[in-house]
Amino acid sequence: MLKGLNRRNFEDRLLRDVRRRVSTFGTFSVYAKQSTVYVEPQEASCDMDGAYDAMKTVFGVVGVNRAKACAKDVDAITEAARIYLENTLLAARSFKVESKRADKTFPLNSIQLSQEVGGALHDAFPHLAVDVHHPEITVHVEVREAAAYVHADPEPGAGGLPLGISGRAVTLLSGGIDSPVSSYMIAKRGIELIPVHFFSYPYTSPEAKEKVLELARILTRYCGRMTVHVVPFTEIQEEIRKQCPEEYFTLIMRRFMMRIAAAIAEQTGSKAVVTGESLGQVASQTMEALRVTEAVCDLPVLRPVIGMDKEEIIRVARKIGTFETSILPYEDCCTVFTPRHPRTRPRLPDVERAEAKLDVETLVQAALGKTERIALDS
Ligand code: ATP
Ligand code: MG
Repeated sequence: MLKGLNRRNFEDRLLRDVRRRVSTFGTFSVYAKQSTVYVEPQEASCDMDGAYDAMKTVFGVVGVNRAKACAKDVDAITEAARIYLENTLLAARSFKVESKRADKTFPLNSIQLSQEVGGALHDAFPHLAVDVHHPEITVHVEVREAAAYVHADPEPGAGGLPLGISGRAVTLLSGGIDSPVSSYMIAKRGIELIPVHFFSYPYTSPEAKEKVLELARILTRYCGRMTVHVVPFTEIQEEIRKQCPEEYFTLIMRRFMMRIAAAIAEQTGSKAVVTGESLGQVASQTMEALRVTEAVCDLPVLRPVIGMDKEEIIRVARKIGTFETSILPYEDCCTVFTPRHPRTRPRLPDVERAEAKLDVETLVQAALGKTERIALDS
């Protein structure tokens, strides 16, 4: 549990997210006690594997355990551990038992309970050494009101903060590898996302748009429901091509993206703009280029992958399940109007002069007016 943040709020949001995620796997009772969220199946038909896996994608959860319930006596607890954790215990060389007792009427205290269960498990698995300091596995026993529970060590959860606890941000989502990762990383910090995609039909195909929606759909696993804003970008790009020097195409285009993102942020109560830029990856991602791009946006521009190598970004993309979709071969709008010799160290006054012929405000308003909103459920 976090310190310093409003704990009640944290817990309420976490419970809401957990309930939403398990609801597709059956009827569960979900409640929190002492920084632990309990998810208990209420019917035999609950899909426990599905629910367990889903719990590993909930932001704000540090670790996940799957526990076996049993009667509240030493023999039943030992028997449950022996059967339920058999494979784990057979594979380990050392272990210890750690007990917690919420039911204070239980006749043994937690140290006695650990000793009894530990002794009995040692008899059942004679190859296991007891190691209270650095055991390979810990058998956890918890005696609560309704029953006793046995589980092994936790598996890592998704970490981070519950969705929305830090507010809302617009995230620029292209069909590439980087922006789904940057979106995920910011969502993980407790931020609700408004994905914005710039679509250049017919220079890019309907499949390219579908691909972005598919990436957003994958992200809803972690981020909950989202409304993707698809902004028609063709007219702006054609104007830029007609009116501006080629070496500045990309930069000017990116400035339009930032302006439109800032306007959507304003409409949606978003407090920042997120991009998948990584320093030095392409000409438009030098420090000078970033300066020129963000000059038109007075919100914080968050770039969570700024210091990551492509390999590191790909590792995250694989982990969160977006990589395979990202590498599908559909052009995204940036590649269509790429200058042959882009400026890598642009100066702001030069770029401002280069876009002086454009009626920026009218172009921005026209694109906003034709923006399509697509609601995706998780
Ligand atoms: P990505 O792999 O995310 O596409 P990239 O390395 O290809 O990133 P660029 O194409 O220069 O880099 O884009 C940098 C960032 O700008 C992207 O990560 C994304 O946040 C945003 N962006 C680029 N193109 C679009 C688009 N068509 N719609 C929305 N955002 C975009
Ligand atoms: Mg791209």
